[in-house]
Parts: sequence; structure tokens; C-alpha cells
Amino acid sequence: MAKIPLVDLKAQYAAIKPEIDAALARVIANTSFIGGAEVTNFEAAFAQFQRTKRAVGIANGTSALYLVLRALGIGAGDEVITTPHTFIATVEPIAQSGATPVFVDIDPATYNINPALIEAAITPRTKAIMPVHLYGQLAPMNAIMEIARKHNLYVIEDAAQAHGAELHGLRAGAWGHAACFSFYPGKNLGAYGDAGAVCTNDEALATLIAKLKDHGRMSKYEHDELGYGERLDGLQAAILGAKLPHLEGWNTARRQHAAYYTQALAGVAGVQTPQVMADSQHVFHIYCVRVQGDRDAILAELNQRGIGAGVHYPVPLHLQPAMRGYGGQPGAFPQAEAAAQSIISLPIYPEMTTDHLSQVVEELVDVVSVLAK
Ligand SMILES: *Cc1c(COP(=O)(O)O)cnc(C)c1O
Repeated sequence: MAKIPLVDLKAQYAAIKPEIDAALARVIANTSFIGGAEVTNFEAAFAQFQRTKRAVGIANGTSALYLVLRALGIGAGDEVITTPHTFIATVEPIAQSGATPVFVDIDPATYNINPALIEAAITPRTKAIMPVHLYGQLAPMNAIMEIARKHNLYVIEDAAQAHGAELHGLRAGAWGHAACFSFYPGKNLGAYGDAGAVCTNDEALATLIAKLKDHGRMSKYEHDELGYGERLDGLQAAILGAKLPHLEGWNTARRQHAAYYTQALAGVAGVQTPQVMADSQHVFHIYCVRVQGDRDAILAELNQRGIGAGVHYPVPLHLQPAMRGYGGQPGAFPQAEAAAQSIISLPIYPEMTTDHLSQVVEELVDVVSVLAK
């Protein structure tokens, strides 16, 4: 049987090759490599897609988070509340701004930050909450925004996995003060290299971030503060612009594939399928199941059988060596720690066929029946 990868970017290119090739040729012919219409057109289109007033293209998602922190004046002496169950790029910008990341455990039903635990983590130094819309499902933003309003905190959404996801009809960037996106190639909307964006309804914040990402520039050689070299480039913007009209359809396909998995795995002993919150449009960047028994053995056996399953993420951030200065101890965030040991991400990408899906299910059911306890 054919191998089924976790994601298949070649299949996507094959489906839209003429549009991508035309976009690349256009940028090269125009030499619009930095700035220009490709970037501003994509920014306008992506703002419209997220239904926010502004989108600012950034070199990558990590820098997008950093620039928002910087633009909001968050730094030394401040604390930012976030989740330990995410990619390390969520916390690197917090630490690099000089602020302290403060973790709050997750809700095991969704793997997103548990809002019921946030207030206990707030101190006089807390400046912001940074929820992550993990796997493509928005965090419980109603509850988070209510806490933020009560305590006068900023909310910075890490939406790197949640392009087009909705909660109560609102997309990321319309909930918090700003949402940060990654267009890393494997994300639901992926560039052919590094790329990112900030979406916000705050015009002044967008304008400040647009200035900071481009050397604090007001005009070509007029800089009113020191900024950064963190621009989205023209080639990536053109590729993203060519792909964006497909994103809604791709997200729908991901949801359909997720529904197939969830239905096919219902009632399978030792496998727990993901939960979607009420009135939530999950975009399934990751389809994450929880297994009983020896997860690593189950994963290795799946990989052995040609199923490109993975783990997002195997080590909670408070237990990462790089975070040792922040005092995280084993047992501090039991839900995140338990999840990290029992989750498996199944292959999911829009171009999957029913044959692919049924093959993944067949192998998982078989492996689990032997190895789950
Ligand atoms: C991908 C990702 C990022 C970082 O994005 P880059 O574009 O790779 O810098 C940040 N947070 C989360 C949750 C991500 O998945």
C-alpha cells in the first residue's frame, strides 16, 4: 500500500501549478521582490478573509508575535499568560521581549488554554493573555476576553494554526487586540518559505507594526525609531495571494476529512477523537487523537506501516530545557503533561482521498487493538 504522509505539499502544488507559476513569473518579471503591489494586495485580501480591518505581512509567525508584543509596549517586568501545550514559537517572543511567560494548564477536551484557570495566574505584572488556537480551533475567546476586560489586559491571539477558523461567527483578529499568523509551508495557508501576518481591527496598532517590521521607516531614509528587518517578501506574498482563493475550500475539505475520521473511529476502544466546541468552525490544521497504552509504540508501528502520523507536541513547554529558567516542574500542568504523552496527529491535508482516510483508520484500529491497553 502507498505511504500516506502527514501533509502532502506536492499534491497541492500539482492541483494549482498554473496559478503558482504565473504568480512567480509575474514577480520576477516585475522585480517586485520587496514591498509593492504583491504585498499590499495580499494584505488587503487576507484582512478581508479574516474579516479584520487590517493585515500586515511579516517575515514569519514568530516575528509577528514579537512585533505585536513590542508594539504594545510589553517587555521587561511584564508577564504574559499562555499555554504550555503549543509550539515553542509561542513563548520565544514573550521571553525575547524581556517579559515572563506564565503558563496555565489546558482543557483536555480541546487542548486549548483552560479559561477557568487564568484568573489564578494573574498578578499585578500581568499585561497580556496569549491564547493559542491550537490545531485549528479557536480558544474559548468569550471567556478569555471577559477576563481580559475585567483585568485590563491585552489579548494577543496565536492564530498560526487557525486561518479561517471561527467561534460564534468571528475569526481570529476580530476577538483580541491582534492575531498572529504563520504561513509556514505546512500551515493551512502556506508560503514557499517563511511568511507571516498580523491581523487587527486597531488601525494605529497595524500602522505601528507596519513601521516596526520595516526598520522603523516613515519614508525611505527617515526612521523615527529603531525597527526590524521582518518584512513579508514579494514572492511569498504572490504565492499566498494565488493560494488564498482556495483556502475556504481547503478548510472545508479538512473538516470533511476530520468528520470521516471521527465517524470511523467512534466507539473504537483506546482511541479518543477530537472535540469541537459549540458554534465553532474548526479548520483542522491537525487532527489529533488520544490513545491509551504505549503511545510511542503505537506511533512507531503506524509509521512502520507507512502512515505518516506525528505528535504535536511531545514535550510541554515548561519542561523544555530552553525554558528551565522559568521554573517549570514536572506535575505543574498535569493536563498538558498527560496530553503530551498520549496524543497522535493523523495525516490530514485537503487532497486526501477516501481511500487514504480509510487506510489510516484501518491501520490505526489494527495497531491499537494490539497495542492499546
Ligand atoms: C507555526 C507556529 C508558529 C510560528 O510560526 P513561524 O512562521 O514558523 O515563525 C507560532 N505558533 C504556533 C502555534 C505555530 O504553530
